[in-house]
Amino acid sequence: MDYVEHIADLVGNTPLVKLNSLAEGLAPLVLAKVEYFNPGGSVKDRIALRMVEAAEASGELRPGGTIVEPTSGNTGVGLAMVAQRKGYKCVFVCPDKVSEDKRNVLKAYGARVVVCPTAVPPEHPDSYYSVSDRLVREIEGAWKPNQYANKENPASHYESTGPEIWRQTEGRITHFVAGVGTGGTISGTGRYLKEASQGRVQVIGADPEGSVYSGGTGRPYLVEGVGEDFWPDTYDRGIADEIISISDAESFSTTRRLALEEGLLVGGSCGMAVAAALKLAQRLGPDDVVVVLLPDGGRGYLGKVFNDRWMAGYGFLEPDSSGATVGDVL
Ligand code: PMP
Repeated sequence: MDYVEHIADLVGNTPLVKLNSLAEGLAPLVLAKVEYFNPGGSVKDRIALRMVEAAEASGELRPGGTIVEPTSGNTGVGLAMVAQRKGYKCVFVCPDKVSEDKRNVLKAYGARVVVCPTAVPPEHPDSYYSVSDRLVREIEGAWKPNQYANKENPASHYESTGPEIWRQTEGRITHFVAGVGTGGTISGTGRYLKEASQGRVQVIGADPEGSVYSGGTGRPYLVEGVGEDFWPDTYDRGIADEIISISDAESFSTTRRLALEEGLLVGGSCGMAVAAALKLAQRLGPDDVVVVLLPDGGRGYLGKVFNDRWMAGYGFLEPDSSGATVGDVL
């Protein structure tokens, strides 16, 4: 019989899918690493199991303990899945810009969700970082994985994402593109690919306009899961050969095109990463192979990037010549 012991055993080994329509007219092969194939629906499943098992081994997380983490949702899903298997409780702290759908997913796994304002600095007592620290102090047996400082985050990508891409491209990858949130994906995957290729693979970060990674101050932007207003320990500042910054408008229009033209229903940070990959590909040749990582699926964003009214409210949908908004049924 062909089965696994637990859903968490299916993390990793996600497929590479060629971009056709979006890469039309561009010389290189552009491949998407589609992370929504992970059982929790995102790239963050990879870091969850590794962080929990390391904490069990070190004694920081004991039987019956509670996992407390500030997360925009995806890390929470991965952690909730692992907690379900191992009998831990979960409390997740989210900024208020995170969609209600994403919060409800966490609740469905049995987690408690605490919502905090987005528009306060990280050191503010109501910021989601401060609130999660307070909860760790107050809850007995609490353990905070702290994906922003936990070395198991980039390590999980060094051990899994990097080797998978190297194997899947038979060592022919020339450029790796990823959005930067904690920086775990780009740092761990990038380090593996640079080592395997003896420095040949170029690593490119994609960043929302306004975030620190592309020289901003942390000004608010709408794309979720990427960009920061501080420098996390999990980000290796020496890893990226280049950072390309992308506006919300371009991130969201590219996200919609991925569903419309490639059949890939993915989240807004995927559109951002692909927009960066396409800008890069314009400068490259036919022997280049670009791999762009798509962190999650689009179902958590149906009320936002895939909602015409929400998009029009921010001016992201242009009225067409008839005066109707693009996407209206005429
Ligand atoms: N996109 C989404 C939707 C995410 O949740 C995250 C994780 N914060 C990222 C991209 C960025 O990945 P990383 O934290 O590894 O830099």
